[in-house]
Amino acid sequence: MHRPDMRSLTLIANHKLHGSRESLTAYIHALDAACATLSDQLQIMLAVPHVFLSHAMSARAAASRLHITSQDVSQHAHGAYTGEISSAMLAGIGVTHTLVGHSETRSRLALDDGAVARTALQAQASGVTPIVCIGENLGDYDAGNTHSVLSKQVESLREVIAAQHPCLIAYEPRWAIGSGKTPLMQEIAGAHSVIRRAIHNICDGEKLARDSAIPLLYGGSVTPANVHEILALPEVGGALIGSASLEVSSMIAMASAASALLERK
Ligand code: PEP
Repeated sequence: MHRPDMRSLTLIANHKLHGSRESLTAYIHALDAACATLSDQLQIMLAVPHVFLSHAMSARAAASRLHITSQDVSQHAHGAYTGEISSAMLAGIGVTHTLVGHSETRSRLALDDGAVARTALQAQASGVTPIVCIGENLGDYDAGNTHSVLSKQVESLREVIAAQHPCLIAYEPRWAIGSGKTPLMQEIAGAHSVIRRAIHNICDGEKLARDSAIPLLYGGSVTPANVHEILALPEVGGALIGSASLEVSSMIAMASAASALLERK
């Protein structure tokens, strides 16, 4: 299927707790070289461990199109929060985007939707664009509650959606992350429609005309084998990719598929 309104796609490689300075340098050089030949409408981001953020930024080519992204950020501006980093610190070294509320982070830090929203707002206040992850757990999926869970999670992001600074939303069913399982294509499409409608309702209520400007990404066991079908779905504006992004050849294959889709427009 092809979306006639497709304008751009965003692919985010999430390297989680993987890699070294050396492996990251080689990865960035290879991805940079490949990106140079791909559609201008394709945005590529790479979420690396905090300790590698500065190195990753300086390892990029001079005309690199690769955005280096943080995997998380504190909900606090400053204070006695040993081990955390603030969004102002990210902005201070030139990082423009951060994941917020990734399911692994939510579980590890026991974050609820309120904490995720506060983190996203804190990032926006520092000029850092949050990529907010939402998604149902397996129990909710099995019980048929996916749409109500998503509507509630989007509602918890009301202030983030209404803020002046942009945001992205990634729909990541928690049970699909790292499991090799994905929802059916019509389920992904249905979930994205529900999220888009919930954003639209918020924007309508707040008298804002920016609902279609908030990109929606899908994440959860995306691979070179399924990326084309997923990106071709209505409302899917990109993908957040973990395991399959670790090998640069696999990431380049997915970026090439996205670029081909854009160029067929
Ligand atoms: C992720 O890390 O956000 C993710 C979706 O991982 P995976 O692609 O491995 O499921």
